[in-house]
Amino acid sequence: MQTQLADFIRNTPEGREADEILRKCVHCGFCTATCPTYQLLGDELDGPRGRIYLIKQLLEGQDVTEKTRLHLDRCLTCRSCESTCPSGVHYSRLADIGRHIVEQRVPRRGLDQAARWVLRELVPRASVFGAAMKAGRAVRGLLPTVLKDKVPVARASGPWPRPRHARRMYALAGCAQPAMAPSINAATARVLDTLGISLQEAPTAGCCGAVRFHLNDQDGARGEARRNIDAWWPAIESGEVEGIVMTASGCGVQVKDYGHLLQHDPAYAERAARISALTRDVAEVVAGEAGQLRAQLNAKGGGETAVAWHAPCTLQHGLKVRGVVEQLLAAAGFRLTPVRDGHLCCGSAGTYSLLQPEISHQLRDNKLAALGAGGAGIILSANIGCITHLQAGTSTPVRHWIEAIDARLNGFPL
Ligand code: SF4
Ligand code: SF4
Repeated sequence: MQTQLADFIRNTPEGREADEILRKCVHCGFCTATCPTYQLLGDELDGPRGRIYLIKQLLEGQDVTEKTRLHLDRCLTCRSCESTCPSGVHYSRLADIGRHIVEQRVPRRGLDQAARWVLRELVPRASVFGAAMKAGRAVRGLLPTVLKDKVPVARASGPWPRPRHARRMYALAGCAQPAMAPSINAATARVLDTLGISLQEAPTAGCCGAVRFHLNDQDGARGEARRNIDAWWPAIESGEVEGIVMTASGCGVQVKDYGHLLQHDPAYAERAARISALTRDVAEVVAGEAGQLRAQLNAKGGGETAVAWHAPCTLQHGLKVRGVVEQLLAAAGFRLTPVRDGHLCCGSAGTYSLLQPEISHQLRDNKLAALGAGGAGIILSANIGCITHLQAGTSTPVRHWIEAIDARLNGFPL
């Protein structure tokens, strides 16, 4: 694609990056076929190729309007288009650059502005979010559906094993997950403990920064990245902790990007790159110990259970971890039912389900129909956002896959 970027952006790091991305796009349109919003809305501007055009226009100095913002807002940032693109166009990075400019040129007003402010200020603060979740659970039956959907029923998390192994890793507690489903990190700690790794959480780490970043507070997200690096670095530097385990693939994508986010910060660039390199999704960590896991599972025995697997976009398109969880579940004796259109987003996409409820709910209905077609009695996934979103639309239990492994290994109820 030919480009002529405007003076305001041409010689900036963002301008150079955007130019390089745009030049890779050959307009073939293969990406539109796998874009969930294009499939639902049928408008070229609600597909990746159309959005790339809109961003190109604004970078070339053309007018930016509310219509530009609307089409970019409707994008889930699911990155399915990146998995499809034969030219390696890094669409999500281009969208980040474009959205940041649109946000400055076309300010939001009224409810839209207020809703984004509340989400930006509430969700990333674990203590505030935890208190809100507690209050929400107390009056869950009285909440409007849109809020009730975000207040999962409390489940016991079970014990967290005491540190006893030479191998140690950090888990990111994050912001929403400890209040919504503390059972996920506890199950991870138990599974890793049986595999010879002690898991701990750094008390001063917090939100990964994804919420702020995707609500266009990119500087605020960088601040959260710096705080987490400060929390993890001493134990990483001394070798006491070998890496960071992500149990929410949405957070994993963000932390894996710290090196890129802070590349122009001389005080943090090197540490950020190292932290990103040492960050792994829990599936990658468990797969690294697959032999030991198999031996332990064989010793436990147990019958075959049918499960439906939903791979979050952040896992399959963002982290590009594909087929790993499926193999681990099969090794644990689960039978995965066939699920059509596994590449498509469930509609959760962070705060998208609150900000674009109509599209989000349509995508959820489609996803639940696909997941339910094989008759599985349980749905498994890998990201708290997807798990909560899907659970709100079905009576079939939706759990993190590591809880299923924990159930097999340690007998905790799913
Ligand atoms: S990120 Fe997802 S919703 Fe956005 S353009 Fe790409 S495929 Fe479509
Ligand atoms: S598939 Fe890639 S090269 Fe083709 S239009 Fe989409 S982004 Fe551009």
